[in-house]
Amino acid sequence: MLTLKFGGTSMGSARRMLDSVEIMLGRAKTDRISVIVSAVAGVSNALQAAIDGCVSGSLPANFIDGIRKTHGEICAQLHASVEGFDAASTMAKIEPNFIELEKLLSGVATFGECPESIYCRIMGMGELCCVPIINAILIAKKQNVLVLDSRKFIFTTGSQIESDPDYTRTSEALGPYRDGAECSQAQILLFPGFVCGWSAHADDEPKMGLLGRNGSDFSAAIIGACLASKKVEFWTDVDGIYTADPRVVSDAILVDDMTYEEAMELSFFGSKVLHPKTLAPLVARGIEAWSLNSHNPKARGTRIGRGPFESEKKVGPVCGISCLKKTALVSVSGGGMKGKTGIASRIFAAVSRAGISMLLITQSSSEYTISFCVRQSQSVEVKDVLESEFAFEIRDGLINPISVIENCAIVSIVGDGMKQNRGVAGKFFNALSSRSINILAIAQGSSERSISTVIAGEYGDIAVKTTHRFFFNTTQPIEVFAFGAGTIGGALLDQIYKQQKILKEQNIDIKVCCIATMRGMLLDGNGLDLSDWRNAVSVSGKKTNLDEVLKFVKENKPLNPIFVDCTASYDLPERYLDVLNAGMNVATPNKRANSMSMQYYRELRETANKNHVRFLYETNVGAGLPIIDTLQNLFKSGDSLVGFNGIMSGSLSYIFGKLDEGKKFSEAVKQAKEMRFTEPDPRDDLKGTDVARKALIIAREAGMEIELSDIKMNSIFPENFNIEGTVDEFMARLPEVDSYFAEKMALLKKQNKVLRMGASIKNGKVSVGMLEAGPENPLFAVKGGENAFVFETARYTPIPLTIRGYGAGADVTAAGVFGDVLRTVSFNPEV
Ligand code: ADP
Ligand code: ASP
Ligand code: MG
Repeated sequence: MLTLKFGGTSMGSARRMLDSVEIMLGRAKTDRISVIVSAVAGVSNALQAAIDGCVSGSLPANFIDGIRKTHGEICAQLHASVEGFDAASTMAKIEPNFIELEKLLSGVATFGECPESIYCRIMGMGELCCVPIINAILIAKKQNVLVLDSRKFIFTTGSQIESDPDYTRTSEALGPYRDGAECSQAQILLFPGFVCGWSAHADDEPKMGLLGRNGSDFSAAIIGACLASKKVEFWTDVDGIYTADPRVVSDAILVDDMTYEEAMELSFFGSKVLHPKTLAPLVARGIEAWSLNSHNPKARGTRIGRGPFESEKKVGPVCGISCLKKTALVSVSGGGMKGKTGIASRIFAAVSRAGISMLLITQSSSEYTISFCVRQSQSVEVKDVLESEFAFEIRDGLINPISVIENCAIVSIVGDGMKQNRGVAGKFFNALSSRSINILAIAQGSSERSISTVIAGEYGDIAVKTTHRFFFNTTQPIEVFAFGAGTIGGALLDQIYKQQKILKEQNIDIKVCCIATMRGMLLDGNGLDLSDWRNAVSVSGKKTNLDEVLKFVKENKPLNPIFVDCTASYDLPERYLDVLNAGMNVATPNKRANSMSMQYYRELRETANKNHVRFLYETNVGAGLPIIDTLQNLFKSGDSLVGFNGIMSGSLSYIFGKLDEGKKFSEAVKQAKEMRFTEPDPRDDLKGTDVARKALIIAREAGMEIELSDIKMNSIFPENFNIEGTVDEFMARLPEVDSYFAEKMALLKKQNKVLRMGASIKNGKVSVGMLEAGPENPLFAVKGGENAFVFETARYTPIPLTIRGYGAGADVTAAGVFGDVLRTVSFNPEV
């Protein structure tokens, strides 16, 4: 005997049913099989919704017709494709169910409540409607099949809606089909899942009961055990059991083999792939369970057995991560609990009397608090029960009012291998803290097979995703939210597009989830197609809106989001705190944020640290040249800045280089402007404000507390020269200073010196202006748009550390920003 269970996902359509039947036929060739089927996908949930609707007053419109139609359409399709399948007679067999359903639901609507016995009759209808269809297909396929009504074979007690099997009675009832007279009757035994024959006491006449939501798995295990099956196969819509729910973690790893205990722990803590009670009857009898995919029957599937398993691929000390949502954390605490015996047992007894089960329990070592989790739906009841149990102690202040934190998620890591491995818990907690997820409670099973944490429910999925990445070291994601797609931003997006595939091969999955420009905004958590992004942005029809992006990030919680500001915006940098607080890294070539007040400068760094994200600005100084990173490493390792000289403006470097060659100043400026080396208004460069900002950033990097207004600006122009007016007026007036510069140059030439525009830091003072450099000065040879940075530090003396190269240009700057974006990957200490 072989037992096969097909879930709703294998009963979703005529096609799925036929695929499932093919699997049954394949197995029936060599074995007698017992088949357990669930309701058609979606039907149980629809029934639940109908009950909820009726309890609050009305049956949802057209509900009965809808459910009739669902089954009718499947039958019609089967009629068309399976020879010998008779839709009309099959539907006639199901029809009485719909009539009963209507009666029951209208009763619920009338009375506004749904007693458990009615609940069972309504909810079980999905399975009772599905069985006749599968039976008809099997008959059409000329199979020797016998339908057995689970209500007459699986006997249960306890709670009617989530009942516990009486194995002795069930085994007795199934005896004839196991080894008795009925064995030769049929090759295929077909059972509805989920439903059973329940009675409060063993001698009572059984009524219809249920095995709890998702309970068809349990039905199969009970039947498999009582029929002494050699194994039980659970056919669903995934290739087996993964290291996490593949709907949450897209790169979850398929596990080949799991011990019963591992699988039990995973399902207990919320993994939907098997109902939590499923494995118990199989463990006791050593029957192997297999999780298989009816949509892909060739896949090997996951074996669940006693172990140890040999020669199969091992996933590591942790084999799975699960998340149980909709739970509440209840805490009983108070000074009066210290050293007092019997409190714990009173708590547990009171909760158990109310028929409520605890999912997880922890106690603080000072005995001051006992906390436990229950299902969210039971939180009010549990509070009432405990408040009445401890009414006197609460009144006298010995115990505090019972605390209940609603909407929690229990995130657990599971694996037999934890026993031999140190650091597993540490890694788990690190993962959660890397996302700033607050842990409300922790519990570790004494078997050392699982560690569970209780966290706020909204963080459940992100906790699973991050923990998965920490343990399974799979692809590291970067989600880019790009603001500004002009010369630098555009070049960056083009570079990302070009590198995406290569980076993927190196395990870095970089996605651009947002492009926001003045023309429009694109936003997609799955990543945008960059092949034609320029056009896509202009036809997006959506306006750029930072708040919408922040809301999106808060709701979708990408794993490693980075906000890239490639705009020249004056205001956007003032919002970086909001961006960091939303949990995003920030990278920008825009110097504004770092040159605002010292207070904002500090706040940016504190906010980034608090949120475990990074604020990156390598391109603020020297574009693609490695200035900031180099300085940070120097200073972190204990070096200190003694002095600095630098040429930090490509346009000024170009202009002063031309003066060396004997060009007139006005012409050099004109040429630089024409070649777009300067800002549209060349005064922005010539006044030195941009250089001052860069110098300020270097000074602050070196630890100086300094404001932009503290920097001494030495104008390059003679005192009486008027630099006001329009750009054209200014350009027209420029020849007035040609002789001033020519004289200067002639004098310097005699001394074998050149004129440069730069910045210097010395003795705690920062200044910007012209400087004269002889051949001994590293700045002497710097011209033609080149940048140079000369750092004299405690270690780099007397020969200073010099970094030279192109300090401007869209491609090198974009590459620098790209470098910052990639830095967010190595930031994670665990990967
Ligand atoms: P069925 O209707 O066949 O019982 P379910 O929807 O109840 O199917 O269970 C299958 C689903 O369980 C999968 O589609 C998957 O999303 C989910 N699931 C949750 N955790 C896991 C896991 N660790 N491995 C595989 N599937 C999982
Ligand atoms: N149909 C039932 C439910 O959805 C049982 C099952 O599918 O396992 O809960
Ligand atoms: Mg299921």
